[in-house]
Amino acid sequence: MRITSVEAIPLKIPFTLGHERSGWSADMFQTLEMVLVRVETDAGLVGWGDAFAYGCQRAVVAAIEDMIAPKVVGADARDIAGLNRQLQRQNHLWGRYGITIFAISGLDIALWDLAGKAAGKPLVQLLGGSGAAPLPAYASLFRYGDPATVARVTEEVLGAGYDHVKLHEITVPAVAAARHAGGPNFALMVDTNCPWTPTEAQRMAAAMAEHDLYWLEEPLFPPEDFTGLARLRDLSGVPLAAGENACTAVQFQAMFAAGAVDYAQPSVTKVGGVTEFLKIAALAEASGVRIMAHSPYIGPGFLASLHLAAALPDPGLIERFHVTLEANPMGPWVLPKDGQFMVPDGPGLGADPDPAVVAAHRLDR
Ligand SMILES: [Mg+2]
Repeated sequence: MRITSVEAIPLKIPFTLGHERSGWSADMFQTLEMVLVRVETDAGLVGWGDAFAYGCQRAVVAAIEDMIAPKVVGADARDIAGLNRQLQRQNHLWGRYGITIFAISGLDIALWDLAGKAAGKPLVQLLGGSGAAPLPAYASLFRYGDPATVARVTEEVLGAGYDHVKLHEITVPAVAAARHAGGPNFALMVDTNCPWTPTEAQRMAAAMAEHDLYWLEEPLFPPEDFTGLARLRDLSGVPLAAGENACTAVQFQAMFAAGAVDYAQPSVTKVGGVTEFLKIAALAEASGVRIMAHSPYIGPGFLASLHLAAALPDPGLIERFHVTLEANPMGPWVLPKDGQFMVPDGPGLGADPDPAVVAAHRLDR
């Protein structure tokens, strides 16, 4: 099964919040952005992946077209681990992390989709799982910046069946509003997206801890300050989560060796695809760290996250961005029911992007 073409397709899917006020600027977030990777083979099978591309679609498209596709057309699509390693080697001079590895991730996911399609099995079964059980999920809320809105949306998602809720807030009143609105019997996570120095983080972690956090996510800048995270974790006693800004098993190994986190959040569209995610999961298990897949996505990478989680001994919780999609490229698999997801049961990822949605929301370049 030879690769005959690799195509990068940038998509922008509009969404609405149902709430006017936002602490994240409208410029930053009006659409969910991804770059689909479509891999065609001489066996007649087509595989789909996607590369992380929030705010960087044109750069990711260029990386796939210039740095990835020319190196793999003609290669055996079944040699997934070999191609992943080859691409990491051949592209290392442009930086090991960021755009380069996002592009490799998109290709890797598409190759695993092809492997499942060739075997006639869902990806989860290739990875050693059954995929029969529903996966517990958490609602990942937008940053509203307004405690009243935080309270209202927290009530809304608890009413929809979630019992784990993650805020993207950076103030104590916003965190307090969620806890007061939802009461004591739900798990509350706070994702801060790397705002603080270690000293600031210590103060904020202590204040937020009063509201019983299941985890505090990415409290430090820079995100790769694993020593700082480990120190904060020790001093504050608050469970920490991080990993969406880390790539490859090498960075996660350093994170675990430092004792930086309780929860590791590899993102299949960023870390190096399914191949690299599996290595990270094995390291995490051996290090006593729980995997919580980073997956605020709605494309093939979200489906890959479901298959991966279902194949682990501990699936963790699936992250679902709490937004209302104006278009849905992957069908019902990206829609939660009672705070849970089912694993697609078709071959490969179990669903291809809807051609009508792709045609309507493909970014004109
Ligand atoms: Mg996060």
